[in-house]
This record gives sequence, structure tokens and C-alpha cells, in this order.
Amino acid sequence: MKQECITNSKEETIRFGYDFVKHLSPGTVIALAGDLGAGKTTLTQGILAGFGVLPPYTSPTFVIMKQYDIVPKNHQHIKRIYHVDAYRIGTQEMLSIGWEEWMEDAEAIVIVEWPERIADIIPDSALTISLEWVDESRRKITIC
Ligand code: ADP
Ligand code: MG
Repeated sequence: MKQECITNSKEETIRFGYDFVKHLSPGTVIALAGDLGAGKTTLTQGILAGFGVLPPYTSPTFVIMKQYDIVPKNHQHIKRIYHVDAYRIGTQEMLSIGWEEWMEDAEAIVIVEWPERIADIIPDSALTISLEWVDESRRKITIC
């Protein structure tokens, strides 16, 4: 099922991520697609907030992966979030820093920015959320 919506501000995209948490279960991999500035990190911040993670949230662009341990009072019993940014690296390097461990972590969800850079190791079961720039303040979000 394909779903689309438009957000009119950064805050609405954060809210979208916040509200999306209820659809997540342990083991979910989210492939978060979209160009630079589309709002991938912003949406992730909403998801983190929805799990009760407090700011500041830093983009994992330079560290490749940021792990958040979350208070396990969420109904889904998700204990960790791995926020991955593949912008700077390819499949081999991603594998060498622990990708398979994150994939095997049945208590976690994994959020991947720039999934197309590591398309060959994104599982078929991944949920794809795409963000598209509409104008300065609006983004189209598509879930498939
Ligand atoms: P990405 O991680 O995709 O490169 P970021 O989330 O880091 O993108 O940045 C998105 C930028 O776009 C931010 O500066 C944010 O303020 C701006 N922005 C404007 N409108 C929106 C919107 N509707 N949703 C998300 N971000 C928006
Ligand atoms: Mg980003």
C-alpha cells in the first residue's frame, strides 16, 4: 500500500515522525530516501522524539552510525535505534563497521539515510519512506 502526504513545515515533518512510531515494531528497517535537504534527518528526529529520546540529536553523517538506547516503556518493546547515514560510504565499508550486527538486533529498529548507496544490503523487507522537496517549506512524504 502506498501512502502520500505533504508537510508544510519542518515541525510538521517532525510531527509525522513522532506519530509514525506507533507503526514500528522491533526489527523494522526504514530506508529513508530523498535528496540533500529533503528532511530525512528532520523526520528521524521526530521518530527519536516519539521514542522519548531527548535532544540534541546529531546527524550521523560524519560518524556513519549513531546508536540510541531507549527507555523500554514503549509498547513495541523496541530497545535501540540505529540511525545510519550512508552518504559517504559504500557497502563494503558499511559491512566492516557492523551493519550485520545491527540487522540481526531483533530489539532494534534501523533508520538508513541514503539507502541507495548501499542498495545491495538493504533487506527486501525494509520499509521505504521517501521525501521530496516541493518548495522551500513543503515536502512530499511517500511510504511504500
Ligand atoms: P536531509 O537529512 O534529508 O539532508 P535535513 O532534515 O537535514 O535533510 O534538512 C531539511 C532542511 O529543510 C532543514 O533545514 C529544514 O528546516 C528544512 N525544511 C523546510 N521545510 C521542511 C519540511 N516541510 N520538512 C522538513 N524539513 C523542512
Ligand atoms: Mg541527513
